[in-house]
Amino acid sequence: MTMRSFTYVRADSVDQAVTEVTADPEAAYLAGGTTQVDLMKDEVFRPLRLVDITRLPLREVRADDDTLTVGALTTMEELAAHEVVTDRLPLVRQALLLGASPQLRHMATMGGNLLQRTRCRYFRDPDVACNKREPGAGCGAIDGFHRMHAVLGTSPHCIATHASDVAVPLLALGASVRIRGQGAERVVPLTEFYRVPGGTPHVENVLEHGELITHLEIPLPPRGTRSGYLKVRDRASYEFALVSVAAALLIDDGTIRAAHLALGGVGTVPWRVPRAEELLRGAAPGPDAFAAAAEAALGGAQARRDNGFKIELGRRAVVRMLSTLAEEP
Ligand SMILES: Cc1cc2nc3c(=O)[nH]c(=O)nc-3n(C[C@H](O)[C@H](O)[C@H](O)COP(=O)(O)OP(=O)(O)OC[C@H]3O[C@@H](n4cnc5c(N)ncnc54)[C@H](O)[C@@H]3O)c2cc1C
Ligand code: SF4
Repeated sequence: MTMRSFTYVRADSVDQAVTEVTADPEAAYLAGGTTQVDLMKDEVFRPLRLVDITRLPLREVRADDDTLTVGALTTMEELAAHEVVTDRLPLVRQALLLGASPQLRHMATMGGNLLQRTRCRYFRDPDVACNKREPGAGCGAIDGFHRMHAVLGTSPHCIATHASDVAVPLLALGASVRIRGQGAERVVPLTEFYRVPGGTPHVENVLEHGELITHLEIPLPPRGTRSGYLKVRDRASYEFALVSVAAALLIDDGTIRAAHLALGGVGTVPWRVPRAEELLRGAAPGPDAFAAAAEAALGGAQARRDNGFKIELGRRAVVRMLSTLAEEP
């Protein structure tokens, strides 16, 4: 293996960090490093300059009546332990605690989590063709072993799943990211943040080079909302999802008044299903409504040789998650 040298800079302010990375096409941010450093060791990612953002004042959680504002450097473990998350956002807490391991969760930041790269094994193997790693090279997974790969949002150029657990409930709840570029700030809902691969699998989201996520803004559902995250995986811990479901239901007087639903492990991006939410709203909670929502949730799914089982597993996981919420006292 070749030793590769790179420059390391620790940023003292958000402005400095954004300027450093924007000015240099070979520069990248370093947060907890739990994704970034692995990719460098595997020679998948070769930055010439790393700008460490861990000392920036973006490690905070603030709540008002309607919104939880989370600094991008808040760790997964810190967010999971926050009292508002424990009290009002069980689906977010569960998704965080079902991810990675305690050691990793103490290092991993929320900004880094949303931007983690796919776990497609071919992406991480520089000896195999990968359009995401090298545009135009081809896709080793489509003709390779793709049991873990996506059934929704795929293209002939890439079928890799998005790996984040917590992005799934955040998407379901309608969360946004606050983004700082040079001299400008913008807020982008997660529904518009991620990009399906199409013909450009290397473009995964709407961030321009040098833009920094500074905060996440999570709308708080009304009190009385029941919510949860179901993660189905090959082993009970320390494993990515085969299928996951984040759901929130507000049930009043035998009717579903509000519904939020998103899936993980099945899509090339975290997958929200507005059609399933529409079907649930106004319906009586029960097997018929849940089966209809599950059918809609996996609508348009495309099976390949090894991953067709995810479609039925996804439907069953949706029904199970919704039934569990409906049965809550
Ligand atoms: C063994 C293992 C198991 C795991 N299991 C799970 C799991 O089950 N579920 C799950 O969801 N995740 C899992 N993860 C992934 C883990 O959650 C992520 O690696 C972590 O959240 C990334 O955060 P970080 O702060 O370490 O990011 P880094 O590795 O520092 O950065 C990740 C990427 O984000 C960019 N970046 C970071 N912060 C910002 C910002 N604020 N603005 C702009 N760009 C930024 C970096 O430049 C880099 O491209 C696992 C990881 C490992 C190593
Ligand atoms: S599925 Fe996507 S990430 Fe995996 S090898 Fe194909 S192009 Fe690369």
